[in-house]
Amino acid sequence: MKFVDEYRQPGTVQRYARALARLATRPWTLMEMCGGQTHTIVKFGVDQLLPPGVTLVHGPGCPVCVTPVGLIDKAIEIAGRPGVTLCSFGDMLRVPGTRTDLLGARAAGGEVRVVYSPLDAVRLAANDPRREVVFFAVGFETTAPANALAVCLARRQQLRNFSLLVAQVRLPPVLERLLVTPGNRVQGFLAAGHVCTVMGYTEYEPIARHYGVPIVVTGFEPLDILEGVHLCVAQLEAGRATVQNQYSRSVRRHGNHAARQLVREVFETVPRRWRGLGEIPQSGLALRQSYRDFDAEHRFGLAQSAAEPHSPCISHLILQGAKKPHECPAFGKLCTPEHPLGAPMVSSEGACAAYRRYRGTTGRLAAQL
Ligand code: SF4
Repeated sequence: MKFVDEYRQPGTVQRYARALARLATRPWTLMEMCGGQTHTIVKFGVDQLLPPGVTLVHGPGCPVCVTPVGLIDKAIEIAGRPGVTLCSFGDMLRVPGTRTDLLGARAAGGEVRVVYSPLDAVRLAANDPRREVVFFAVGFETTAPANALAVCLARRQQLRNFSLLVAQVRLPPVLERLLVTPGNRVQGFLAAGHVCTVMGYTEYEPIARHYGVPIVVTGFEPLDILEGVHLCVAQLEAGRATVQNQYSRSVRRHGNHAARQLVREVFETVPRRWRGLGEIPQSGLALRQSYRDFDAEHRFGLAQSAAEPHSPCISHLILQGAKKPHECPAFGKLCTPEHPLGAPMVSSEGACAAYRRYRGTTGRLAAQL
């Protein structure tokens, strides 16, 4: 019987806790890679179900959180230009740039529109050829196919007024970066199920082999995460390091062929700067030369961005799993959802937002106070 099936029976939680406690003979530190998984863990208290010594730390899996200040400044600059509409998912509007955010740009007269899909932005461009429409393409491999599709559609419709400001990032290179970071304490990973639904998990296999870390492709329900932790700890206890697929109801080893092909057609792999983590080779996607006409940075001739400003925000430590949100001195005091100092407090996938939402103004459980 599969682990999840077994633990869906009455008494699931207690039996789960006993099973993991029997399994874990020593401390292990695991990282979940996706902000959606972080929210499930904090919302449902999955971390409280783990035996003492098995620790979950939160990874850099929030695309809004890792978008560098420089790119947000570029979006703000574009939004301020006459005749331009900057389209974005709502999460990005309150992420601080160097001096303001996109909401501030809108208040100053810029045309900033919230959309739910890049295809909405293509429609806006088609409906008003006099305006330049730019979509702020933020996301992991999950959003890349829709963005690639938007560009293909704009080309097919011969739209000359549509472009992407690309902030696409890829997860496998950052996982490698974390493993070689001095002081790294992560011994196993829960990979993001939705990313692997698109891309498959063959890219993780050499990483697991080379670094000797188990990687379990994991879903987003509480029981998915419990099973992911169980599989990861079982590998660690047995001295194994392979890629396992917990999320087999959605993920295939080679991912979604059509989506991967579309992404390959439109994007190429490039180095990309991550907020708080610096530049990571091969960790980003950029439009290929043949699609350069749709590249907003090229179209608007935007200058390279400045370095990240000094801030009390320790999101670089949060995103590497070195600290938890409630360990940030600014949490709940200087930094709140109403007045965020950093992206992890703004984004719906941000770890700080999860702690604030589900664990109150201190971010701690009652037992930790
Ligand atoms: S609580 Fe605020 S200041 Fe601290 S790391 Fe999170 S976003 Fe940054």
